[in-house]
Amino acid sequence: MPVAEISGAGIAGLTTAVLLARKGWQVRVHERSPELRASGNGITIFENGIRVLEALDLDPDVVSHGHQLNRFVISRNTGETVIEYDPFEATGGRIVMFQRQALVDLLSRAAIAAGAKIALASRVVEADRAGALLLDGGERLEADLVVGADGIHSTVRRSVAGDLTLGKHRKGAIRMLIPTDASDFPGGNLYMAREFNHPNGRRVGILPCSTTVSYMILVSLRADAAAHAVPIDPALWEESFPTLGRFFARVGTRGHYDAYHSIQPPAWHFGRSVLVGDAAHGMTPALGQGACSSMMTAYALGSANFDAGPLDTVLSRWEAGIRPLIDFTQDFAEGITEGRLDPNNEVFFADPKLRPILEADIPRQAREQAHQAA
Ligand SMILES: Cc1cc2nc3c(=O)[nH]c(=O)nc-3n(C[C@H](O)[C@H](O)[C@H](O)COP(=O)(O)OP(=O)(O)OC[C@H]3O[C@@H](n4cnc5c(N)ncnc54)[C@H](O)[C@@H]3O)c2cc1C
Repeated sequence: MPVAEISGAGIAGLTTAVLLARKGWQVRVHERSPELRASGNGITIFENGIRVLEALDLDPDVVSHGHQLNRFVISRNTGETVIEYDPFEATGGRIVMFQRQALVDLLSRAAIAAGAKIALASRVVEADRAGALLLDGGERLEADLVVGADGIHSTVRRSVAGDLTLGKHRKGAIRMLIPTDASDFPGGNLYMAREFNHPNGRRVGILPCSTTVSYMILVSLRADAAAHAVPIDPALWEESFPTLGRFFARVGTRGHYDAYHSIQPPAWHFGRSVLVGDAAHGMTPALGQGACSSMMTAYALGSANFDAGPLDTVLSRWEAGIRPLIDFTQDFAEGITEGRLDPNNEVFFADPKLRPILEADIPRQAREQAHQAA
């Protein structure tokens, strides 16, 4: 029975574990935290992520573990609506809000049911290309496949691919869950996501994860230090978003701040070690595709036919099949984050120098050159 040792029990590690264990592999997932607790916030899962969850056959009605949106409203900081759409009509796909914990619970239950072991408080300190993980207690575990699913700051990646520089981007965000009040959403529509944009680069997203809990994300430029403070200063945020004081007043000590990072390693597999999820392709969250893409790369890996040839050939085929799409997604997300691409999304007021460039329908490369010059 082939053996897989997986570092990281996040969305990518657990998705991989479900599939390999169902194939009959002996799978162990190492999670450094003492419990499987996703940080207390929400996550937007788009059609591609939903399809992976459905293909995993976790529950015939996997969407019912989340909250499917029927309206997306993007506004100026003053509250004036700029764009309003039905997500399904606009994108041809579902947009479902989950509490992160609900997703992790679904996946971990399925991994355990398939026979995978989850080792908590088990920190990986090193990996090698020959197929071994070293734990912080000194134990060395050999495997047919070592999976680095340990996030953007991956230890496995550092061990097998070297100390690669993370892409740094101009933004960061504070995320939290807050209680929902029935009057939070116009017309009492508790399936409506709202986003508010300020020309100073601050952005507020309020997205219901259920009829009682909403996910709030407060985005700001890295240079905007006052906006990164946790607990947040409600007065500071209300000054930028005068119609949202009631939400900021509800935050209290909730929230944690993350700067945006990305990574594009030269390869996703090195000998018997392979990278999935943020460890392989961490991206800026402007498109809400980090976890969705993580599930895709993990699903593709877990579904690979490992009997089809030598491991290196199987992994090369896997990477060649899925990576171009993920590279494109990363690039697109970064374009939005940096203000190069979409005048109708989060940057649409952010950088007055960019507006004429964004609004002119000129080719991408020319836009990027103009952006660099600006
Ligand atoms: C502000 C923000 C908003 C986002 N919003 C969205 C969104 O709406 N939709 C979306 O699809 N994506 C979103 N993302 C991206 C998403 O969070 C990530 O892409 C996703 O969590 C990656 O999953 P992962 O399993 O690869 O890594 P992680 O979620 O980082 O999980 C890695 C796991 O490995 C564990 N670990 C780390 N190191 C070790 C070690 N040495 N030993 C053992 N265990 C270890 C960690 O504790 C963790 O449990 C957002 C990201 C940010 C920053």
